[in-house]
Amino acid sequence: MSFELPKLHYKYDSLEPLIDARTMEIHHSKHHAGYTNNLNNALKETGLEGKNIEELLAGVSDLSTAIRNNGGGYFNHNLYWEILAPGGAPNPEGELLDAINHSFENLEKFKDIFVKAALTRFGSGWAWLLKKDNGLVVTSTPNQDNPLMDLSEVQGTPVLGIDVWEHAYYLNYQNRRPDYVEAFWKLINWDEVARRFKG
Ligand code: MN
Repeated sequence: MSFELPKLHYKYDSLEPLIDARTMEIHHSKHHAGYTNNLNNALKETGLEGKNIEELLAGVSDLSTAIRNNGGGYFNHNLYWEILAPGGAPNPEGELLDAINHSFENLEKFKDIFVKAALTRFGSGWAWLLKKDNGLVVTSTPNQDNPLMDLSEVQGTPVLGIDVWEHAYYLNYQNRRPDYVEAFWKLINWDEVARRFKG
């Protein structure tokens, strides 16, 4: 059994003009495809081929750098495509909104903390909202690491993540990461974030 590049449930141009079609196409068909293929190659003859991605990441400190980088890249992009939606979805509501209010006081304060995490991650990496000990926490990780990894400084279940590698925004935004982060905020599929929060 090997990992497969997931199909997007929208078109490459569906997030225009906030995320351009060319960026989406390269990001999915080159970068994400590359992580997927490289993960499959790195797993060959390791005896780990039957494990799911969450199991691999939970024990990644004992595995190769190739599995760490490409397994992270595989999982992170699966999440990224799913928590985006053309035009975004309504604001968080219900239990998810209650948890955000409980952990961050209100939605605006949560947004400030999340955006700051995305902007202050030096170089390539991700910012995350994650479920931890029945609450919600914001953190960021370098490279393709994520909070599912046993070597992550902050561990938990990611429910929202933003890719701040330059490949996610450079064609449209060049060095203007803040503009990309602001655009991302308008495209969040809160229904999917809520689904992950409940699960
Ligand atoms: Mn990426």
